[in-house]
Parts: sequence; structure tokens; C-alpha cells
Amino acid sequence: MRSSLTLVLFLLAAASLAQGGPAQPAPDSVRIPILVYHNIAPHRPEQTSEQRLMDVDPVVFKQQVNYLADHGFRTVSLASLVGVLESGAAPPDHVVIITFDDGWESQFEGAVPVLRQLGMTATFFVVTSQVGDPAYMTWDQLRELQDAGMTIGSHTRTHPMLTSPDVSLTDEVEKSRQDIRQHLGTTPDFFAYPYGAWDARAVAAVRAAGYAAARAFPRGPWNTPSDLFALRSVMVTDDMGAFVRAVTGSP
Ligand SMILES: [Zn+2]
Repeated sequence: MRSSLTLVLFLLAAASLAQGGPAQPAPDSVRIPILVYHNIAPHRPEQTSEQRLMDVDPVVFKQQVNYLADHGFRTVSLASLVGVLESGAAPPDHVVIITFDDGWESQFEGAVPVLRQLGMTATFFVVTSQVGDPAYMTWDQLRELQDAGMTIGSHTRTHPMLTSPDVSLTDEVEKSRQDIRQHLGTTPDFFAYPYGAWDARAVAAVRAAGYAAARAFPRGPWNTPSDLFALRSVMVTDDMGAFVRAVTGSP
């Protein structure tokens, strides 16, 4: 969502990534980058530079997905990452996980055709009370994505900071899961914390609601088995060099 809070948190995350994040991944770390996109929309002159960081231009998105295809990368689901983390199996090589937040219609228009053309899949984290609002995807569109092999996950009902004490975790975490089940006939296994913000109470609610894993703050491409309910991720921007470094791991 386009709040200044999103931007502040994003910039903090970007700053921590620029500092290289954790110096040395833990020995049981798995490197399967979880890429995070928001709007897939052309930049507009009135946007601030911070807003530009939240949007990826459709032309650049196509370049990024083409880069993956041309360099032998394929997309896997979050379920694959969970499987690797839980089993300790060797992670597959040349794979990424693509995720989209907030349920923007621009994703349906600007990203999905490109993904489908190249046989790639993604997870769409939707805010269930906003589905069908102007600029957001409808339940029919989400059903179409699901039928095309995409995964729909929960990003709460109203996109609050789950760490604030006056938020109903039951409504946001459990009932958003029920909303998706009711409208799509599928119970979502994955959750993404709005603003990446989580604490022990939020994690407990996500576990109790029955999710298999949850995506958190963009802190890099490495995850360990203990990160299942606060999976690290990588925010994607129009910066093609940063994209290549994130997916390949090259410096
Ligand atoms: Zn969001």
C-alpha cells in the first residue's frame, strides 16, 4: 500500500541490504530468493523517488522475467522452499520465488501475461477487504490466476501493522484466510506481514491459523529452517543490476 510508513520501512530495509545484511549466512541457510513486487506500473513525473522504488515499470518487469528465462532460472513455489527447509534436502539450483503484494490490478495486467507466456508462476498476497475495489484485482481475476497455476496468499484483511496492540489478529490473520477459502475454494498456506512487521504474537497467530509459512521483511535471499514464519525476501526495483545480483548471488 502506498503509505509513507511503507516507504519508511522499505527504505530501512534497503539501507540494511546496502550494508550487506548478515555477513555470513548460517550453515543451514538455503539461498532461494523470494522476490517481492508491488505495482507493475510506468513511473509518473509526479512520483517521488521513494514512490518509484515501490513500482516496477512493465517494460523492466518483462526484462527481468526474460533475464530469468534466458539464464536458465525457473520459478518455484513457496511450498518448495518450505519443503527444502523442513527436509534439509539440497536446494534446487537456478530457482527463484516471485511474489506480489497488495493485490493491485496492475499485476494482473502488467505481470501475469508475461509470466504465463514464459511458463512462470508467482504468489499473490492479497488484502481481502480490498479485493474488487478500484485499482485492485477482483475475486474473479484471482480465481483466474489460481486456475493458471498461481498461488493466492493472505496479506491480512485491512493491511495494518500487526505489531500494534489494538489490531485484531483473529480478524487479520485467521479471517482473511477464511475470506480466501470462501471466495476461491482454496485454503491459503502462505501469509505476508504488512510492512514486513512481525513479532512473537503475530507469529503465534499465523501458526495458530494454520499457515505453513510467512514472508517478512526484505532482508536478503537466505533463509534457515527457523525462519519459516519470518522468511527473508528481496524487494525488486527497476534496478536491473540489483535484480541480477539478487537472483544470481554474484557480487
Ligand atoms: Zn502490503
